Amino acid sequence: MRRLKLSVIIILILLLKVKTSYAASWVNFPTSWDIGQAFAVTITSTAEYTQPMVTWMNRSIALNVEAGGAGKISYGLLGSDVRNIKPGDYKILFEFIQGGKKYKASGNIYLRARQYPREELRVSPKMVNPPKKELSRIRSESQLVGTALRTMTIPRKWTTPPQPPLASITLTSNYGKQRVYNGQPRAGHNGADIRAVTGTSVRAPFAGTVVLAGFHYYAGGSVYIDSGNGVITAFFHLSNILVKKGDNVAKGQIVAKSGATGRVTGPHLHYSLILGGQFVDPIPLLSTSITQMLKQGNIQQVN
Ligand SMILES: [Zn+2]
Repeated sequence: MRRLKLSVIIILILLLKVKTSYAASWVNFPTSWDIGQAFAVTITSTAEYTQPMVTWMNRSIALNVEAGGAGKISYGLLGSDVRNIKPGDYKILFEFIQGGKKYKASGNIYLRARQYPREELRVSPKMVNPPKKELSRIRSESQLVGTALRTMTIPRKWTTPPQPPLASITLTSNYGKQRVYNGQPRAGHNGADIRAVTGTSVRAPFAGTVVLAGFHYYAGGSVYIDSGNGVITAFFHLSNILVKKGDNVAKGQIVAKSGATGRVTGPHLHYSLILGGQFVDPIPLLSTSITQMLKQGNIQQVN
């Protein structure tokens, strides 16, 4: 009898142990969001996991595993490009490996239409219809940019809120504006234009590595910085570039001087935020943190 009691107790203890060592994991993502605006996602778990990944808009984004809360957490920053995304449901997929098993979780995010204004601009005619001799240059620059934007690295070097790129932020043209150059419609504005006289110091919004720097036909003096997990920031129309490809930069480091190079109507700083290949509005993120953004998400249990 005594032996039986003891074995019952041992079984109970074992069961309890199995129960407490069982991992519980969740994903957090919004169920609807505005086209063109950045949103935040997470994977969280009570136990260790590896290879966290989020797939969004046909791109798989490698995340980090960090200590957070009562266990582990992976942060992602995602968005959709106003120039080519239509309103509707889009699938988001999370994956990670835990205890030798691959876990998946997915859902839909409804992307809402958002009205971005239209803008008429007058620029040099060669900046609307470039001369034939410039076409191969434009093509090769667009390939360089495409490669830079596919950069996928870990660890996470971005932390929110970002360092504002200029000491004073006054917008001269918003993200998403439908642009009509000399009467001819062109793609929407893929960043924000900030007032800056030529020669103003431009600071890196996040720590990262320069993945492309040079003088391009339309964008003029350009710098692209990769900050991990598909987060890339870019500056256009620079007069002076102070970094080169491969350089590591600190958050807030001066990387360039603003200017009026490329297709412009006057001096300003063009600032783009690219998340997993999608150009999003960079301005709202300047005054928010990922913690605040996550409060608007929906939590779904995985295991
Ligand atoms: Zn611009």
